[in-house]
Amino acid sequence: MTRKKIIAGNWKMYKTIAEGQAFAEELKSILGQTEHEVLVCAPYTQLSSLKKVFSGSIVKLGAQNMHFENEGAFTGEISPLMLKEIGVDYCVIGHSERRQYFAETDDTVNRKLKAALAHGIFPIMCVGEVLAQRDAGEAFDVVRTQLTGGFAGLEAGEATKVVIAYEPVWAIGTGRTATPEQAEEMCAFIRETVSGLFGEGTAESVRIQYGGSVKPANAAELLTKDNIDGALVGGASLIARDFKAIIDY
Ligand code: PEP
Repeated sequence: MTRKKIIAGNWKMYKTIAEGQAFAEELKSILGQTEHEVLVCAPYTQLSSLKKVFSGSIVKLGAQNMHFENEGAFTGEISPLMLKEIGVDYCVIGHSERRQYFAETDDTVNRKLKAALAHGIFPIMCVGEVLAQRDAGEAFDVVRTQLTGGFAGLEAGEATKVVIAYEPVWAIGTGRTATPEQAEEMCAFIRETVSGLFGEGTAESVRIQYGGSVKPANAAELLTKDNIDGALVGGASLIARDFKAIIDY
């Protein structure tokens, strides 16, 4: 099965509205034809203006988090309804920084996944182990638990719409990339786990990204692996030319 590669930028808490617009204009002007799906996951404050700048281009829009309720007394939160109103296509869910600094759990990931799908927002569910877990030989168990918890109660048809991002925490923002073999091994394991949960058809169609210090210099060796269907790119997605180079790997 041919899966369309998905290259997503994660800007984290970077860029003002003006900086985001300048990036979007530059990316649009340098981005040629590509067979890949391309998106930028930006801070909330930039979503409306980016939607306008990217309209008519192939670049889609993602958020980096959302609450699972439609509305309510949740000061400081943003709901899937609000994201949908802006025209957001994707939402990153359960990024390791959210798990680490904002106490997100497999249960909140699961609720957010269901809420995103209910509103027609494609979730990018992040999974991955910390270094101590890898060193202790626990990486596969950790990722299996995150997948099982995140996907709990979903139907196969829903699971197919979820993009899974394998992001070993020790490789995020550290400049230390998983080797293509390590990344491929885990992405193959993720596909196998999805097969166990939802069947082979779902496993073959679900897209699995690698994330963790992806840059122009290492994109090709990662993205040509059989089970790696794209990249979730942090730091290198902040510079339009670097992001384009990854898209064109
Ligand atoms: C990320 O933010 O998901 C990420 C992978 O960051 P970086 O590419 O900077 O490691």
